[in-house]
Amino acid sequence: MEKLIIGSHVSFEKDEQLLGSVKEALEYGGNTFMFYTGAPQNTIRIRLNDELTKKALILMKENDIDINNVIVHAPYIINLANDDNAFAISFLKEEIKRTEKLGITKLVLHPGSHVGVGIDKGIQNVIAGLNVIIDEKTKVNICLETMAGKGREVGSSFIEIKKIIDGVKYNNKVSVCLDTCHISDAGYDISNFDQVLDEFDRIIGLEKLVCIHINDSKNEKGAHKDRHENFGFGTLGFDNLIKIIYNPRIMHIPKILETPYVSIDDSSKERLYPPYKFEIMMIKNKKFNTNLIEDIRNYYK
Ligand code: FE
Ligand code: FE
Ligand code: ZN
Repeated sequence: MEKLIIGSHVSFEKDEQLLGSVKEALEYGGNTFMFYTGAPQNTIRIRLNDELTKKALILMKENDIDINNVIVHAPYIINLANDDNAFAISFLKEEIKRTEKLGITKLVLHPGSHVGVGIDKGIQNVIAGLNVIIDEKTKVNICLETMAGKGREVGSSFIEIKKIIDGVKYNNKVSVCLDTCHISDAGYDISNFDQVLDEFDRIIGLEKLVCIHINDSKNEKGAHKDRHENFGFGTLGFDNLIKIIYNPRIMHIPKILETPYVSIDDSSKERLYPPYKFEIMMIKNKKFNTNLIEDIRNYYK
């Protein structure tokens, strides 16, 4: 069987930059990872340090992490779907440059919110934006993320994603990141994932699927809420998520956890700790750990 490619969201901080992200991924037992190059809710970005990048690439090589499986997530405040998307366009151009400078080939992007202009106009805005941003020299692949359909989100169906891809001139540089929490919230039945993949293949083409966000959901199918839950503790459930991860049709695709941090109350203040080390352990063992939250608390306290 092909090897499992699993990782999680990690941080990217000014002291160690990419080197710190790799270390964090390794600490969780991952062989890939995803990060924001700065705070997702703002556009302040630190200067990239090539020395740290070089060290990070060496550490990745030593640990069999293929950089083509590593993902940058564009900040979620970027909104190409709005009529006035000039700022989003210029910021995304910068973000592409940063991603390329790090040697990373995949940049996940939320299509955005149409904020009242209507879904069709929203889609047209995304297309127009991407046609300004992507040219023949662009090296990264823009991975459009499937959304939960919360508020006025664009991209909560395979058909909407396909429309965007079809409108982009250099659409060999556009692909898809499927988020399991989001598609369930959008109404897809993930308990029969082969059927979901068939539909994806029929509408978009399975070769366009290059990244999977493997999250559980706090809400029922079709809820349009977008609230992630720890692996196996939500409405999708452990068995369904494991089946998705080990589905032979998508074994070669990197799977990234974006499950919520676990809170530990130590009387004085509440702290949050990452669940990823223990979730990845469960995924590798294919065995549900009912004590996950306790194990995390004991490990970090
Ligand atoms: Fe996302
Ligand atoms: Fe996601
Ligand atoms: Zn989400």
